[in-house]
Amino acid sequence: MKAGIHPNYKKVQVTCACGNVFETGSVKQEIRIETCSECHPFYTGRQKFAEAGGRVDRFNKKYGIKSELQQ
Ligand SMILES: [Zn+2]
Repeated sequence: MKAGIHPNYKKVQVTCACGNVFETGSVKQEIRIETCSECHPFYTGRQKFAEAGGRVDRFNKKYGIKSELQQ
């Protein structure tokens, strides 16, 4: 590779809304996501992903927002 023209690709910590934290490679400092392979229904088979005790759940409670799945 030519020096100086490529972004610095390094390991970063990815934080998911479900609380899962894992490492991946990126040029960013940190990554925040709402769905990861641990909580996506495709992988878990569950429907209420990311809403059980995670940041989304706390946010919804704080602002009195009812989940679509709970209505
Ligand atoms: Zn997740």
